[in-house]
Amino acid sequence: MDQLSKSKDAPKKIAHIGIAVKNLHDSINFYTDLLGLTLERVEEVASEQVRVAFLKIGESRIELLEPLSNESPIYRFIHKKGEGIHHIALEVNNINDRLANLKSNGIQLINEQAKEGADNAQIAFLHPKSTNGVLFELCQHQNKE
Ligand code: ZN
Repeated sequence: MDQLSKSKDAPKKIAHIGIAVKNLHDSINFYTDLLGLTLERVEEVASEQVRVAFLKIGESRIELLEPLSNESPIYRFIHKKGEGIHHIALEVNNINDRLANLKSNGIQLINEQAKEGADNAQIAFLHPKSTNGVLFELCQHQNKE
């Protein structure tokens, strides 16, 4: 496990939990008005064809994801499984070293290299086949913490 040395820091926190919704506008009221969470921002992520809303909850976030087209992975997820928890994002350092390390230890990656995600973070997904059916996102924020 020498390879772990480059990326041995454990993930720092759950960055966010991603929840697939059909319509942000219809869903967000539960989180803001009823639960009382603060809506931080809404943005569109062109590469994933989604509109996302981040709601702050302690040091983590809830990320609501609404598909913008039939090509969106979130559209396909909702079509197959319905709305619900889509992924768990872990805040990490050294994301590309970590991806290489995971790959060399037999974990199947959806993204072999980090790419630009919401909030200007570098992100990559691990294949749920390798992680007990959970879609994990690794997420590295540039200018925070
Ligand atoms: Zn996410």
